[in-house]
Amino acid sequence: MATPHARAVVDLEAIAHNTALFAGRTTAQVMAVVKADGFGHGAVRVATTALASGATWLGVTTTAEALHLRAGGVSAPILSWMHSPDEDFGEALLAEIDLSVSSSDHLRAVAASAARLGTTAAVHLKADTGLHRNGARPEEWRELVELAAALETAGYVRVRGVWSHLVNGTDPAAGTLRAQIRLFDESVAVARGAGLRPEVRHVANSVATLAAPDTHYEIVRPGIGLYGVEPDPLRVFGLRGAMTLRARLILVKRVPAGSGVSYEHDYVTKRDSTLALVPLGYADGLPWAAAGRAEVSIAGRRYPVAGRIAMDQFVVDLGDDTARAGDEVVVFGPGTEGEPTVAEWAGWAGTVPHEILTGVGPRVARHYAEVPAVEEASRA
Ligand SMILES: *Cc1c(COP(=O)(O)O)cnc(C)c1O
Repeated sequence: MATPHARAVVDLEAIAHNTALFAGRTTAQVMAVVKADGFGHGAVRVATTALASGATWLGVTTTAEALHLRAGGVSAPILSWMHSPDEDFGEALLAEIDLSVSSSDHLRAVAASAARLGTTAAVHLKADTGLHRNGARPEEWRELVELAAALETAGYVRVRGVWSHLVNGTDPAAGTLRAQIRLFDESVAVARGAGLRPEVRHVANSVATLAAPDTHYEIVRPGIGLYGVEPDPLRVFGLRGAMTLRARLILVKRVPAGSGVSYEHDYVTKRDSTLALVPLGYADGLPWAAAGRAEVSIAGRRYPVAGRIAMDQFVVDLGDDTARAGDEVVVFGPGTEGEPTVAEWAGWAGTVPHEILTGVGPRVARHYAEVPAVEEASRA
């Protein structure tokens, strides 16, 4: 049930711009990462836009996310990368979803699903090169690639890719990155030695795609950058923020100096003030921890969030400025009109922009600002 008073406007032109920016910085294919409902922007809309703007692959976490894209009419190659070995992979295989595999047990399960269906599973073997989450450890790798080679010969699997994920999302010069690349190259060599012929190798996330060209291989996997968040805090690559979170003020009132605002009265007005009520709270993804620092924009000016952010609402102190119920407040946006950005909200809350974007809750309806059709654009 969406609140009628707030919406997240997704600028598909920004997604298109950002995808093209990534594609323009590499000769590799671009796998647009649209997990977690396209980082909260709507997976199918983002996927379709990215595919029209230079991406050729899509990356998601679960097979359910991959099947959701297929149901939305997306026919491009999709890689799904997090499963339990006891999952039934049948539906994903019938939908031609590529599956990441991190262990021999997992590979046997995927092969068994393929055998039952009389099909061949396309898999990407994942090497743990140091992140120590998913992926096979170096000492498990030889067994995994030898099993994969045997199952490939038997016709149950086809090893399309070998891949890994990087430790450091922001510093491409870090020693861990160099060590990971070295271990990755060794892992690929062991796979080839076992007779595998992977067409694609991939490790690069957004920041590596922009800043570390030697990590590109055949595919890069940008996520956060597609949505317009600069992934390297020290550099500006020209990405455009795609989501603007807007709401309408639902009440404006005047209070005397010394008025405590919101739970526990953490905030007290220093002078007579105009307070405006915004109908969004932490249930809608605005972090409780951002109180005391957060700001929003009303009529092009920034004002502080006054006191605690509650589940469904927060208060803004307008000082002596005036506003009326129904006026628009911009919680965050691309920053082009002075409004706060997702990165600022993340800083205020002590978290990462990814958490702010994926946290925008189900009460906030997504609206789409379209990519202009070519004809319209040329007429304009
Ligand atoms: C989320 C994710 C990405 C994208 O990373 P960003 O830092 O958001 O660009 C790439 N690969 C994998 C495996 C991921 O889980």
